[in-house]
Amino acid sequence: RFITVEGVDGAGKSSQIDVIAQAIRDRGIDLVITREPGGTPTAEKIREILLHDEMSPKCEMLLMFASRQENLDKVVKPAIAEGKWVLCDRFTDASYAYQAYGRNQPKEWVDLLADFVHSDISPDRTVLFDIDTEIAAARLQRKLDRFEAEEKDFHRRVREGYLTLARNEPERFLVIDSSQPKDEISAFLKEEFSKWG
Ligand code: C5P
Repeated sequence: RFITVEGVDGAGKSSQIDVIAQAIRDRGIDLVITREPGGTPTAEKIREILLHDEMSPKCEMLLMFASRQENLDKVVKPAIAEGKWVLCDRFTDASYAYQAYGRNQPKEWVDLLADFVHSDISPDRTVLFDIDTEIAAARLQRKLDRFEAEEKDFHRRVREGYLTLARNEPERFLVIDSSQPKDEISAFLKEEFSKWG
């Protein structure tokens, strides 16, 4: 099983990944956790470039997929081949949301790259942490990198992108309203992943 976790910045995605992982591991399932961009030494170097350098949107898109290829080849696919489950913090949905919707790049380019890099694998389940842009902005008071320093309009487009993806694939997406109390979200996810799959 290949599970991905997505969300706009400030939606509290990171803190809930451990909850999902624990619920799956409590069932005795061997789970590998990875992230994008990143997940292998080379892909983590690409992540550093992506988070700190200025670049064209097209270069950003290609580097996202370069990182994805490396993570798929070295982490995701080998784990799945061994019968393990994989939990990946962001995947190609993030390229649609951030690079296409956020940075106004053609969605068709993401389709092309997705087909090139992973025509043979796609997520079985995707948890999307959704949050209103104003609430996210308030939570994110500090600006950690160039992505988080972007304007609210960018966040709004990314959020709309994610919600559109979720509407188009309601079976795959589990949309979490991140304005709910953290404990309630954790309890819900624990329950969900103690039985899903
Ligand atoms: O999920 P995480 O916080 O680790 O992501 C790091 C940054 O990379 C985020 O600020 C996110 O907005 C950005 N990102 C992006 N496009 C992607 C994946 C991540 O702009 N495809």
